[in-house]
Amino acid sequence: MKWHFLGGADTVTGSRHLLELDGARILFDCGLFQGRRKEANDFNRHLEFNPLAVDAMVLSHAHVDHCGNVPTLARNGYRNPIHATSATCDLLPIMLRDSAHIQEADAAYLNQKTNRRGLPPVVPLYTLADAEAALRLSRPHAYGAPLALPGGVVAVHVDAGHILGAALARLEIPRPGGGAPLRVALVFDLGRHNLPLLQNPVQIRDVDVLICESTYGDRLHDNALNAREELRLAIVRALGRGGKVLIPTFALGRAQEVVYHLAQLRERGEIPAVPVYLDSPMANAISRVFEKHPGYLDEESNDLRNRVGSVVAPPWLTFSATVDESKAITASKTPAIVLAASGMCEHGRILHHLKHGIENEKNLVLLVGYQALNTLGRRLQNGEKYVRIFGDEFAVKAEIQALRSFSAHADRKELFGYVRDAKPRKVFLVHGEQNQRESFARMLRDQLRLEVALPVNGDVVDLS
Ligand SMILES: [Zn+2]
Repeated sequence: MKWHFLGGADTVTGSRHLLELDGARILFDCGLFQGRRKEANDFNRHLEFNPLAVDAMVLSHAHVDHCGNVPTLARNGYRNPIHATSATCDLLPIMLRDSAHIQEADAAYLNQKTNRRGLPPVVPLYTLADAEAALRLSRPHAYGAPLALPGGVVAVHVDAGHILGAALARLEIPRPGGGAPLRVALVFDLGRHNLPLLQNPVQIRDVDVLICESTYGDRLHDNALNAREELRLAIVRALGRGGKVLIPTFALGRAQEVVYHLAQLRERGEIPAVPVYLDSPMANAISRVFEKHPGYLDEESNDLRNRVGSVVAPPWLTFSATVDESKAITASKTPAIVLAASGMCEHGRILHHLKHGIENEKNLVLLVGYQALNTLGRRLQNGEKYVRIFGDEFAVKAEIQALRSFSAHADRKELFGYVRDAKPRKVFLVHGEQNQRESFARMLRDQLRLEVALPVNGDVVDLS
């Protein structure tokens, strides 16, 4: 009964785990590693196992660091089922086709240079055809439905409270010598209580082994319940001086959360009824998946839906599909709220809105997500006075505000509570930078007297 930590163990992206039993191999997640080009390329192209020898795959959720390398499996011949919740299965086509498009465009861009130098062509990591082959393997199921996997393994997915459709898994693995099965909890991306739209994470209890993320193992977030009020104050201030509110946002999750908060605020008349734009075709498509799965959403959002219709695509929200529509929003000087991808201002339509709006002191740029190092979003968050957009320098005259109550990941306190109540015998901390993992491991050892291991990518452990 071997567990292979193949990716996302001592890194926060590229989640990839393989369970190896006598006669069965089950893969859990196959995410994209995002980092420096060479390192990412090496990791993502080399799977470290034979995809043809994998009997089944279980996917936790639709973030690309968990699902984004599934097309590489298909490209290398994998044709067995990919099990995920029905909402995840509906998000996958949007995420994987977009990722395939990026891979193909990236290779085409590099080939312009390699062609000139007479070098061999760069082959994309995977293509749209590989993504389509992977999508044909997805098998949707509901939270709580026992999933019979090869080797006699039974998995049950429960709500992770992280993004739409995200699941934690409780596994029962038959022991080689018989007796009670080994109980394992997989906590890959634990969400938070009181996130907008989503249900709270479901506690898995009484397990032998817990394999747990630790992204924020050393940090505390502001209360998620503060988000709406912080948003209200910021919007009222900027619109009051005649400015625009520009919100860089991830297309999956954060865009729908912000629109939902706006729906609550508008219904109560707490913000002015200015035009609101969601300038992201991908976010638009994802909002339609939310619409299709009201059963995954929380009671508060269902109450509002009963009163106002859609909570992620309300009638006052304008989805802009074409580039011309996007340009018209950019050119308009009237107060408005504009949401656009990408969330860290690295690419996408938000760059055009920033280019035309960042030098106007009436405007507000509202950062509602994590801003990684070396991104434009992080430079704005750090208060830099001048930034480069499309190669030109712009003075940052607009107000910049970062709201820290938005996060889809459990913080140190929430992770601790989850581990404590799962009552494991042994914990493996994954999916965190080393200092986050070490700090959280110390807390678990000191306060819960738990055996805690910090595996690195490539480690293999015997679970039995
Ligand atoms: Zn995630």
